[in-house]
Amino acid sequence: MAFYVQKYGGTSVGSTERIRNVARRVARFHSQGHQVVVVVSAMSGETNRLIALAREVQSNPDPREMDVMVSTGEQVSIALLSMALMALNVKAKSYTGSQVKILTDSAFTKARILNIDQDKIRADLNNGNVVIVAGFQGVDQYGNITTLGRGGSDTTGVALAAALKADECQIYTDVDGIYTTDPRVVPEARRLDRITFEEMLEMASLGSKVLQLRSVEFAGKYKVKLRVLSSFEEEGPGTLITFEENEQMEQPVISGIAFNRDEAKITVLGVPDHPGIAYQILGPVADANIDVDMIIQNVSHDDLTDFSFTVHRNDFNNTMNIIREKIQPHIGARDVIGGDRIAKVSVVGVGMRSHAGIASKMFRVLAEEGINIQMIATSEIKVSVVVDEKYMELAVRVLHKAFGLEQVL
Ligand code: ADP
Ligand code: ASP
Ligand code: MG
Repeated sequence: MAFYVQKYGGTSVGSTERIRNVARRVARFHSQGHQVVVVVSAMSGETNRLIALAREVQSNPDPREMDVMVSTGEQVSIALLSMALMALNVKAKSYTGSQVKILTDSAFTKARILNIDQDKIRADLNNGNVVIVAGFQGVDQYGNITTLGRGGSDTTGVALAAALKADECQIYTDVDGIYTTDPRVVPEARRLDRITFEEMLEMASLGSKVLQLRSVEFAGKYKVKLRVLSSFEEEGPGTLITFEENEQMEQPVISGIAFNRDEAKITVLGVPDHPGIAYQILGPVADANIDVDMIIQNVSHDDLTDFSFTVHRNDFNNTMNIIREKIQPHIGARDVIGGDRIAKVSVVGVGMRSHAGIASKMFRVLAEEGINIQMIATSEIKVSVVVDEKYMELAVRVLHKAFGLEQVL
């Protein structure tokens, strides 16, 4: 007998028919004697629909009220799944985040989980119930409803698995595992049997939305056995996120390619090149709680330099205003320009540690397609480039091929 936390995403619960399918799968695990806690997302499209409603009423919706509203999507799914299980004669009980008491901080729309009460869940499991928990939501110390950021149900799943010490956290979604890149962009992408935790962390942080970044961080911190599987197919192996590199097998140098359209680039032109300038530019940006990703400062000419950095697209206008109003006059920069039609493409692989020449191969392949590289960033296991958004898919496809990631048919 094992103890599983299973998470089903929006597409997997996108209709009552699909919810009944999920119920049948959960019922099968339950009838085999396993204990199951199920985390569900809102039905597909529902969270977007709710966000759009809010924006019709308030141009910049109040974050607390936004969370009160978007958390309702998951509340519908848990009740429907619970009913579907009862219809199969399985004992089931559903809970919202605040009913369980998934305690979070008060950062509305991007809250972090601080603690999970286990008492009710354990008691229900011991009474033979399947317990169903709403993903993506919690409650702060004052009783306010909070949500965990887009894709946050993954994090609810992994956090519950960590707190309850489940044997495995199974993320059921609309693809049958983690692929070398998004199979919707590159049909030749190949499913990986395993991916290391470090690689998955990079892939998620570089834009692969198959797992929310925080869920991978949680899995790493609490050593949760994490697997991604299809909710549409009968049992397949899926992809296991492993903590050790597989020493028996020859590691491929590159495991995957991630991409991200969510960033925007800002360049401050003609900045006086003297100590403290990076701090003077980025300090006020950080003070406004805006995360900066890539940063480039050029070699200076005549004591003037150009300084570029990227932020999330949602923060673009705000950042431009901060730079124009607070920084440019202060430091005497010549001009500030920016654009949000950029994309970041990254190759990821732990094999890079022992192989030279990955970056130069990437640059050559992009050059051969006439794709201009605007920014570059590297770490031990990844190389990222920023390119014009219109070349993103082409860049991903040619790199996928050049690094030999396609499936062998
Ligand atoms: P869910 O609603 O189940 O949470 P998501 O849409 O959040 O599903 O995540 C699954 C999607 O992630 C897939 O449909 C796929 O298009 C996308 N995806 C992006 N990168 C990858 C990758 N490397 N491997 C598999 N899927 C990926
Ligand atoms: N429903 C939320 C979203 O669409 C959370 C999730 O699906 O993980 O982002
Ligand atoms: Mg998701």
